[in-house]
Amino acid sequence: MARSRRWILALDVGGTNMSGALFKEDGGNPLAVKSRRTPAAEGPEGVVAAGLRLLDDIRDEAVDQGVDPKRIVGAGVGVPGTVEPGRGIVSLAPNLGWRDVPIRDLFQDQLGLPVVVDNDANCAALGEWWVGAGRGSRLMIAATLGTGIGGGIVQEGRVLRGVAGAAGEIGHMTIEMDGRSCQCGNQGCLEAYASGTGIGARAREALRDGAESAIRHMVDSEDQVTAAVVAQAAQEGDMLGRLILRETARYLAAGLASLINVLNPDRIVLAGGVVKTGGLLLDPVREEVRRRAFPASAETCVIAAARDPELAGVRGAALTFQREVLEGHR
Ligand SMILES: [Zn+2]
Repeated sequence: MARSRRWILALDVGGTNMSGALFKEDGGNPLAVKSRRTPAAEGPEGVVAAGLRLLDDIRDEAVDQGVDPKRIVGAGVGVPGTVEPGRGIVSLAPNLGWRDVPIRDLFQDQLGLPVVVDNDANCAALGEWWVGAGRGSRLMIAATLGTGIGGGIVQEGRVLRGVAGAAGEIGHMTIEMDGRSCQCGNQGCLEAYASGTGIGARAREALRDGAESAIRHMVDSEDQVTAAVVAQAAQEGDMLGRLILRETARYLAAGLASLINVLNPDRIVLAGGVVKTGGLLLDPVREEVRRRAFPASAETCVIAAARDPELAGVRGAALTFQREVLEGHR
């Protein structure tokens, strides 16, 4: 079978939505990109069943477009949790409430094809390294500011996994000793400040303290004050919105400067709704990093927005499958 004619299914399972697509083994543009809600309340079996239905739909559409189903050789799956390297067992997925779920075997038994599973943030980092803002990087750190902060580290094209598969959790670096409570149980984690959730919470507190802001007129109730609203207000010139983003940039830069001093990466790739505000977040992040990190390390590190964050997770899942199954190494 010619290498270039094999196809890989890919699935990115998020806490709220899952998306999937079919990739040629050399990457490129995917076929049949689809998404649906993640039925998280139905437990691992329900989520796997929904994922398999999505993969079936993708396979059907690809076959309609002329793909030979025999050339679809397996699936890469990204999940929001800690995945034991090589075994495909999710040891902990807080957003899904999973503990010790043999997710690879659940998929593999029903799909009838080999399946590889990895952490979703690792997949997203690898996807941006493969075909995105991390292309050509030797040591790249990726972070997605969403409900939490997903992190991944890619060195010489390989995900840094650590001994239990739990490396790269950059959202859980302590940046304030006795700071805000984090979902992980610790205090003062970067995620508690700079994730979408943290940004929304800080804005709500400022409004409760009486801060003047157009945000008050943009929402009907306090719980609608999200990071997206803060970003929109900032872009429209609102002072509180801009202040919250500047603070976010400082928190983020404190964490990134530490990582830069420890790892000396050449690229940091950031994704998430607030990153799309461009200069409002990224410029102050770059300035603050320059103030905090060792000059030699800061000068050689490019901080950039992710190029294709919507597809990075599925793309990285496909590459993980290609590496582990088609090439036979991790
Ligand atoms: Zn934490």
